[in-house]
Amino acid sequence: MAARSHASRGVRNHYVLIVFDSCRYDSFVSARPRTISKLGKVEQRWSYASWTAPSHFNLLMGLMPHTSPRNVYASEYYKKDFFKFNERLGAGGIEFRSFVPRLNLPVLLRNLGYRTSAMVSLPVLNPATMLNSGFDSYRLMPKHNDMRAMVRQMHFPEDQPSFHLLNVGETHYPYALPDEPEDQWPRISGVHGVFKHLDEAIVGGKLRRGRTKMFDQRKLAKLRDRQIEAVKYLDAVVEEFFDLVPKNTYVTITSDHGELFGEEGYFGHGPIQHEKVLEVPFVEGKIR
Ligand SMILES: [Zn+2]
Repeated sequence: MAARSHASRGVRNHYVLIVFDSCRYDSFVSARPRTISKLGKVEQRWSYASWTAPSHFNLLMGLMPHTSPRNVYASEYYKKDFFKFNERLGAGGIEFRSFVPRLNLPVLLRNLGYRTSAMVSLPVLNPATMLNSGFDSYRLMPKHNDMRAMVRQMHFPEDQPSFHLLNVGETHYPYALPDEPEDQWPRISGVHGVFKHLDEAIVGGKLRRGRTKMFDQRKLAKLRDRQIEAVKYLDAVVEEFFDLVPKNTYVTITSDHGELFGEEGYFGHGPIQHEKVLEVPFVEGKIR
């Protein structure tokens, strides 16, 4: 019934875009997420930006993290990436021109009959920002690190295809799971005070001289382990999500940027020029 109704609008799939905020590619791979890997091959890709806001802007244009192909013009690559939405939506005839002039994925999806919804964890993406365009519903979650709460609030109407953007914060500094008391979160001097205001713009940056000594390196390694643990935890939440979504749902799981854990004196993301801040995991496929 639902599938027929979607087909009448030229699309067959619900589409869910899940962004593990700050999740570095190698953290993702180290976690060996068994459930997520069922979607398809986990690719190493590159984010267009080194922090949350521009990266989500890019994703909401419909451009996924790129593969850094050689000997190809950017315009050709973009065309191919936009064309991929035919597979994601189970549709035909979607191309770069379909996105013009708004270049806005939720607007395109709404024009195709989708209900569009976003649940975001990081306040830098809050509903008052320009990213909230083309959404029927756009919410900043009360906790920055609770994907399970999002999953429980997702709704897939039977008579309408739906699009969901989930910005997931468990993988973001301080890589805390929802049941971990805040007073047990790790603290990096100079970062935690900033985090209290959740102002991502200045979370990243170069550690001051003297802070990269042995003790801090060990602490940074621990932080990386916490990000890996967060991915393992999220894999179980994704399993719950897979259990409740309709069969005709296409899912993309990726990250908005990577993270530095002390390499060459950098921590976090944002004003950083380093390949690890751009490396992200990318996996997608249809729920079977
Ligand atoms: Zn981010």
